[in-house]
Amino acid sequence: MGIVLLAKGGEEAVSELGYDRYVEWADGADIHVGKITDSAGVKLWSMDFPGYEDTYSIVGELKTNYSAENTIAVQYSDVLMGKDAYSLSSGAASLSDAGRDITLTLRHDLSERIYNYMKENGVKSGSALLTEAGTGRILAAVSLPGASPYTAVDELEEGALLNRNLRTTIPGSTMKVVTSILFAAQCGEALAEETVQCTGVYPLANGDITCVTQQGVHNITEALGYSCNVFFGREIIKILDADPDRTWEKLEQLGFQKKSSEVPLDRLHRTASSAGYSGDGSFSGTWSLIGQGTTQASPVDMVRIVSALVNGGVCSEPYLVEKITAVDGEVTQQHKAKTEQLMSSETARQIYETWVGAYDAYYSEKNYDDRITMAKTGTAQYSDGTESSLLMGYIAQTDTAFYIEINNREEAQISPADVINYVLAAE
Ligand SMILES: [Zn+2]
Repeated sequence: MGIVLLAKGGEEAVSELGYDRYVEWADGADIHVGKITDSAGVKLWSMDFPGYEDTYSIVGELKTNYSAENTIAVQYSDVLMGKDAYSLSSGAASLSDAGRDITLTLRHDLSERIYNYMKENGVKSGSALLTEAGTGRILAAVSLPGASPYTAVDELEEGALLNRNLRTTIPGSTMKVVTSILFAAQCGEALAEETVQCTGVYPLANGDITCVTQQGVHNITEALGYSCNVFFGREIIKILDADPDRTWEKLEQLGFQKKSSEVPLDRLHRTASSAGYSGDGSFSGTWSLIGQGTTQASPVDMVRIVSALVNGGVCSEPYLVEKITAVDGEVTQQHKAKTEQLMSSETARQIYETWVGAYDAYYSEKNYDDRITMAKTGTAQYSDGTESSLLMGYIAQTDTAFYIEINNREEAQISPADVINYVLAAE
């Protein structure tokens, strides 16, 4: 190795070394590799601790054969190993104190509590993303099935190494929050005057929009509270299809793209939301904004939208890496707040008030902790006949935005609301 290093230039060569060759090469030089901790200093990974089951799919670990690649440990391996500190004159000894520690925004106590509760109550496939809406700090990014670092990769359940919060899902009626924002952006205060009579079915070319909730004449607050598909279907065609280009402009501001793509979250990659909205009045184009069909929502985008709704239209970008610290305690990188305007302040206030009104009037106190400020349920149907349950919402008292999904809802003994109630019971 030494000859290769001299020939290539030491720093460059060291930076290219994979984890295993790095350890082999530096053998005996007493290299220091940093650790990953949560926001309270709880160790999530270090050379002598492979990690927890509840955080493994997002924290990962450094080892010879990476198994969970889209993780902090793997994507920040150069930081943990301090490879950039290599100097040719002192060789491997220059790395003895070079590895830096990474402090994440996660709260391990919260993450473990949610993970165990979901797992013990029959959730085989699901996710829970909780962020601090005002800062974007990701407090928990729970994903099931999870992966124990002590289990061999070929014995893990399928999908255990991919954190579902970094992917997308069918949003079901949680999409109605997004669509309400589109309505308000288009018609402002006049939205409150819009009413639609729901008789349970609204026929369109290529299919019928059906509604199984309370029938009658609904305004936006009732329609959001009852989750009336007919109200949304009719208003999508009347308000949004009148100017599909403008609708798409607003959808893109909210994070929805025409085609699925990857966007960064710190150094991790996440799939961005995408929508099958066409604006042509067809069943599929309309149904897409009611949260079915080809629309895919990212839990990260959904909590960004909640963040914007409660902060005057401006979201704080969700993030995981709070700071990076050298061995001597010097902070070499500190997160800088990043914000983005997703909607006007008028639209944010209007839909925030509408949503809170709908939640207060139509969501039972029996099923939802009274500290929840607003929530919207969703059910998504899959082609294999299975259904998932979703919940999107906000808790003002702790400034928490959340997006929860339980995929195998028939088998699970709990609902997404139970997950939030359980979190609140311990806070
Ligand atoms: Zn209806």
